[in-house]
Amino acid sequence: MSKAGNTDYDRQAAGGRVTLVGAGPGAPDLLTLRGQKALMEADVVIYDDLANAELLGWCRPDATRIYVGKRAGQHCMPQAQIGELIVREALLNQHVVRLKGGDPLVFGRGGEEMAALAEAGIPYAVVPGVTAAVAAGAAAGIPLTLRGTASAVVFVTGHECAGKNDGAVDWSALARTGATLCIYMGVRRLPEIARALSAGGLAGSTPVAVVANATLPDQSVHLATLATAEPLSAVLAGQPALIIVGEVVRWPQLARAAIGQQLLAGA
Ligand code: SAH
Repeated sequence: MSKAGNTDYDRQAAGGRVTLVGAGPGAPDLLTLRGQKALMEADVVIYDDLANAELLGWCRPDATRIYVGKRAGQHCMPQAQIGELIVREALLNQHVVRLKGGDPLVFGRGGEEMAALAEAGIPYAVVPGVTAAVAAGAAAGIPLTLRGTASAVVFVTGHECAGKNDGAVDWSALARTGATLCIYMGVRRLPEIARALSAGGLAGSTPVAVVANATLPDQSVHLATLATAEPLSAVLAGQPALIIVGEVVRWPQLARAAIGQQLLAGA
């Protein structure tokens, strides 16, 4: 290696760096091995609500732990300040782990954090995590794709569904795709979303599953249809929940029926 190369390497090795780590959906053993390694090595861990606090048990005893949690409607620390905090800690030559629920780059503001790091010239890496949609499918036994039934999956936020014409999410267009819709942050606006999807042409009989606290001890799975889903909004208020809309939601029943038939056939 050239001398210049060495110098560059040393400068980088001595400097701070950041790892954005996906904590997974809740169950602590759904953290990846790579994420665990980063946590074990970190000087500083910056975390929020959706990351299971048990994961901090992997940190070195002398690691600094900083909570920047925010629940819907009660922001503890604005995103810009979180970005500044990460940069500030890294500039102190620390290895900073930014631990985020699910995957850091799926509705996780990871994009903003990477931009802040790039602007400050701080090296960073991303460790993916099990995102809520995937965890909810697994928890409820619902295949998000199914040959002949659903060839596409959409990850969409329900948070921006303020009104019919708000423009952020085109629910009518989504209704026409035939894709399985995995709606994040949608419980509060479930009635509006159901109406918008129906207006876009999805039948009222389209099955809906709402999986709350997926992979956690208080996990619950609620089955409905587009026409009957509305009350779940109040029932599940304040809980992290993932809404799955599409024919694949029938799969648990279909599978049970098929198994029943096999049993009958075998009897
Ligand atoms: N980055 C995260 C998503 C953050 S947005 C990820 O990749 O999963 C927060 C939303 O994620 C919640 O409103 C909810 O819709 C969903 N969510 C997160 N954890 C969940 C869980 N354990 N069960 C169901 N939904 C969850």
